[in-house]
Amino acid sequence: MKPSKFNILTASKDDPGKFLLYNTLHDHRVLFDDPELNPAILFDKIQNRFPLTPKEQEAVPDLLGMGLLLEDETDEQKIFEDWYHTKIRERTDIMQVTILPTMACNLACDYCFENEVREDGVMKPETVAKTIAYLKRRVERVKPKTLHIHFFGGEPMLQPETLKRIAREMHAFTEPLGIPLSLGMITNGVLLNSEFVGEMLPYGFQWVKITFDGDREEHDRKRIFHNRKGTFDRIYDNLCGIHERFAGRLKIAIGGNFDNENYDSLFGLIERLKASPFAGDIMMARFKPIMPVNPEIASQRQGRVSSFCEVCSFNQKQIDGMMALQDKLWETGLPTDERPDMGPCEYHARHSFTIGPDGSLFKCPAFVGLRNLAAGTVEEDDYNAQGEWQVTMKKWEDDCESCHFLPNCAGGCHYSALNKTGSLEVRNCDGPFLEKATEAFMQREIGLLSAQK
Ligand code: SF4
Ligand code: SF4
Repeated sequence: MKPSKFNILTASKDDPGKFLLYNTLHDHRVLFDDPELNPAILFDKIQNRFPLTPKEQEAVPDLLGMGLLLEDETDEQKIFEDWYHTKIRERTDIMQVTILPTMACNLACDYCFENEVREDGVMKPETVAKTIAYLKRRVERVKPKTLHIHFFGGEPMLQPETLKRIAREMHAFTEPLGIPLSLGMITNGVLLNSEFVGEMLPYGFQWVKITFDGDREEHDRKRIFHNRKGTFDRIYDNLCGIHERFAGRLKIAIGGNFDNENYDSLFGLIERLKASPFAGDIMMARFKPIMPVNPEIASQRQGRVSSFCEVCSFNQKQIDGMMALQDKLWETGLPTDERPDMGPCEYHARHSFTIGPDGSLFKCPAFVGLRNLAAGTVEEDDYNAQGEWQVTMKKWEDDCESCHFLPNCAGGCHYSALNKTGSLEVRNCDGPFLEKATEAFMQREIGLLSAQK
């Protein structure tokens, strides 16, 4: 027998007699709190073929059953690759579609790279019709158990009629098929209003993601209107208004970008959010460093795309900063990441894709506007050669195959790789962040599992 290469074992900082075994492939978490059963010793004995105590022998069948221990002949890389192929790349249970109805934005945040917005920056009515027709054809072909549509931009609320039309027509199409439709939007929140929310809720509108770049003063330095006025109060008041009418029906995800200037003020923001009327509607809060953009890549982009999902590549200071903010969120009781999960993101899944305002398809929202990375168009059912290559390329490198984070990461964020190296074909390794974030998650998990006993 041998331990799984995806096992991570840690001892409790508060009670070194307790251990947590976490497996990144199966997401199993096993607490060891019996002084006669030390998993580090057990695995060591197994690997060296030393005799086991009766207690250790008793534990073996369960560990084998959970995939935390394997028979010697088991090819675990093959198990991972089969899992990646069926559960990630070719999955049909979830279809996640991101739609950018515009690449224009009503704010002038200084860290957002601004290229001139071209004519095709707004989705025209005929492209909206083609987009809806394409989605219907693809849903009929794939038959997903759930369809997720996320609106993104630019600022999607600049095109509310497009959002409502797509939501209405896709809801009318999926409801008779028994396919739940879940709608969400990444918005700066400035134009968000309860009338719009009230119209969208019946179609499956479930969440919005809003960015706050610090507490009021710092946010108002960074997220500004074109006349340089701050946006904090407008966004906060909009969320209060929506909560007043629809408490609990529209969930809020909070994002935030930080640098040295605004970092400290995020702690005040967390306190303010916790005390806000809409605190109970917050489903997730997560803060990330502002990432530099490669000017060469940015100069190839038509229009602009607001801050991307999980663009990750952090230095040690940024990692420490994120961990301190996560501790603060845990301490305050606002929901945040349960465990570090840097992927595999939608880029990996064949039936998840992004549609730009001109009807081009992309495998990642951050690719929109980079024409050479278009994976196809809404006028054709299949991906083009570029799209098929992006779906099928191997996304990790050979030495990732001995890394216990491979199922959480699968080579990391490929937009970050592109941004840093100009190539999608290299991995983007955030191992140091994953190590630190996983250790924090495991220490917290030990406390939670111990409390449940
Ligand atoms: S490749 Fe990076 S930016 Fe693109 S969807 Fe994945 S994590 Fe997000
Ligand atoms: S990119 Fe880094 S963290 Fe990810 S699987 Fe490879 S070695 Fe591990």
